[in-house]
Amino acid sequence: MTGRPLLHQLWPTLAVSLPYLPLGDGPTPVRPLTKLGFRSPVWLKDESGYGGGGWGGNKVRKLEWLLPEARRRGARTILSVGGLGTNWGLAAALYAREQGLDVALALVDHPVDDHVRAQLRRLRSSGAALHFLHTRTRLILAVPWLVARYTRGLTLPYVLPAGGSSPLGTLGYVECALELAGQVRQGLLPEPGWIVTPVGSGGTAAGLALGLRLAGLRTRVLGVVVNDTLRLDGATLVALAGKAHALLRARGADLPEVGLGPHDVVAEYRWLGPGYAHPTEPGEQALDRASSRAGLELERTYTAKAFAALIGLDSAGYFGNEPVVFLNTFGPR
Ligand SMILES: *Cc1c(COP(=O)(O)O)cnc(C)c1O
Repeated sequence: MTGRPLLHQLWPTLAVSLPYLPLGDGPTPVRPLTKLGFRSPVWLKDESGYGGGGWGGNKVRKLEWLLPEARRRGARTILSVGGLGTNWGLAAALYAREQGLDVALALVDHPVDDHVRAQLRRLRSSGAALHFLHTRTRLILAVPWLVARYTRGLTLPYVLPAGGSSPLGTLGYVECALELAGQVRQGLLPEPGWIVTPVGSGGTAAGLALGLRLAGLRTRVLGVVVNDTLRLDGATLVALAGKAHALLRARGADLPEVGLGPHDVVAEYRWLGPGYAHPTEPGEQALDRASSRAGLELERTYTAKAFAALIGLDSAGYFGNEPVVFLNTFGPR
């Protein structure tokens, strides 16, 4: 595990005000994807191996900031929400358990395939308490009851939004962007014009956008929206990046203004298909191509749709031959 996060190295006051718990080994690898016939040079930054606790991918970096905050608050339980196949809920349950924290999850329905069934089995054996609320409306109505249910004495549960995408969780991908900037400086890849990532709850895209500017890169974020149950347009993602920026300042970091605007984060909806966790034909094709030609294992809900968008936009000349980074956010074990 790496010791000090780049955020603490750059703004040492944060080391005291913003506790951090290392859960994975960075920097995560970057490599060129050469065998897919892209017009633009495309690089992979692979988050799949990040995290030592039985599940990897993009939720682990969020937990590095969220779990110490839960402990600072004295919470016993993390209460959060997700779909039946929630990677967030599974990662939270596995890594929280190592810290002596319980996790309770309120779950909503979406299409179920073998992957989701396997994920539900992992969730059931993770030790998380599962509440099947089925619909978003029932979930919202159940929140007060769930908060009361998991309050111990005067100690409230630590309530976190879907995907762990609170401003604090978002710092995980500020950190990842700072790491990527270091890899650019070392000459491991050229400065990207774009970074392509799936958007499920927004923390990954928002954190990247903020971190890239803090690192002085001009890279823009192309967020491929795969979830129609949350508001995830460009303005919403920029607003979340702004909240993460404000949080860092409130904790004492002397950050520059970054002036993020609508051009810095593009929310792309054309690869969503019928909705969250519904497979699509372009997604299926992208999944097969990534696996057979690049040895890259994707899944249907997030990364296959983002990869399909990368293929489609590249062949339409969208990236203008600028280098592109694809962020692999999926971390099965
Ligand atoms: C949660 C998730 C995402 C989306 O990240 P957000 O920060 O929630 O937008 C992407 N890929 C995978 C595999 C995920 O589990």
